[in-house]
Amino acid sequence: MNIWDPTHECMSRDELEQLQLERLQATINRVHKNVTHYRKKFTQMGIIPEDICSLADLTKLPLTTKEDLNLNYPYGMFAVPLREVVRIHSSSGTTSKPIVVGYTKNDIRLWSNLVARFMTAAGVTHDDLVQIAFHYGLFTGAFGVHYGAETIGASVIPMGTGNTEKQIMIMQDYKSTALVCTPSYALSLAYRMEKLGVNSKSLSLKFGLFGGEPWSEAMRSEIEQRLSLSATDNYGLSEVIGPGIAGECSHKNGMHIYEDAFIPEIINPDTGMVLPQGSEGELVLTTLSKEAFPMIRYRTRDITSLDYSPCPCGRTSARMKRVARRSDDMLIIKGVNVYPSQIEEAVFATALGETPYQIVVERADAMDSMEVIIEITDKIFDLELKKQRSFLEQVKKRINSVAGINVSAKLVEVKSLPRKDGKISRVLDKRKI
Ligand SMILES: [Zn+2]
Repeated sequence: MNIWDPTHECMSRDELEQLQLERLQATINRVHKNVTHYRKKFTQMGIIPEDICSLADLTKLPLTTKEDLNLNYPYGMFAVPLREVVRIHSSSGTTSKPIVVGYTKNDIRLWSNLVARFMTAAGVTHDDLVQIAFHYGLFTGAFGVHYGAETIGASVIPMGTGNTEKQIMIMQDYKSTALVCTPSYALSLAYRMEKLGVNSKSLSLKFGLFGGEPWSEAMRSEIEQRLSLSATDNYGLSEVIGPGIAGECSHKNGMHIYEDAFIPEIINPDTGMVLPQGSEGELVLTTLSKEAFPMIRYRTRDITSLDYSPCPCGRTSARMKRVARRSDDMLIIKGVNVYPSQIEEAVFATALGETPYQIVVERADAMDSMEVIIEITDKIFDLELKKQRSFLEQVKKRINSVAGINVSAKLVEVKSLPRKDGKISRVLDKRKI
């Protein structure tokens, strides 16, 4: 069994905790000195860096939320001058402004090596051909995996998203051995192959590395069987680093968190209090080695639990359970994070005021789709059909520009959306994952 960085992945708990404490203290010193947001928060709470003498002291520090990142848009949370930043990425924010994250040269090296860990754990070696079917752009997914695969010495095929038939042709002709994408896209590739009469056993695929959206054990078995590969889960989020926070080994019994780089905590999302070991709650992460964009106790909003029991693979870190739900209302549509508030903003801005609406999310043939249903108000009713159509076009365009996804939109009669106690539930998620 291959382990990319046995020194860090197989440390004894004592050694690991010593290293975590040293790195935590250095990080706290750095953010106190360089990031106004943290310095202000620490001062408000009467904390100085010297107060952090043990890992248990971590709970004295404030939690950081997505709203904090929004308030410090674009560069307020950076701990280094921009000239030291070599890469910028972003992720969706709760408002129409995205979250901007930055990486120094050392951060890119760290990130690549963390990704190399989960890719190695999934079975990828320098002999593999890795087809990356994530969107290349501001999102961290594609570039993170790309650099990680190159670090291992594998051959990268930077395919990007979409072009399903071309993806399949490339798999056949280039003999791709590893596929990286969202689990739902893996299933739609399988559907398309079956339609085209391509037998997955005739391909060279061995490994599927899937992340970016919630999935289930049932989906794993289906993907493994239909694509004839071994499927593993990995975890990451742009605000913390991107992919490379945790990943499954071949035992597929939870994702090993790279604890020398991140300290995980599980909190009660309502009270913010740390929960006892093994409890289910919201994952909070503190980065230990990042330079440009360190995060102190970041609330991921992902609900999971941590397992500290030994894993037969020899890695000693805690394993996090697959994330199946969130403590906020964020939706993941085709791997893109979407907040209902972004959709609402777009609908109201186009309708020039509040309008009853509902967001309906569905999954058919493994593809997610979102429809925005808007009740006709008097204002819209008075419009001619042509103008009603152009209103819907504008809504769709606006949603695409703030949330980065294509939706369908339709108008329905006044009071026809289902109401409970006079209220329309904003989101109807019909997906069975
Ligand atoms: Zn393991």
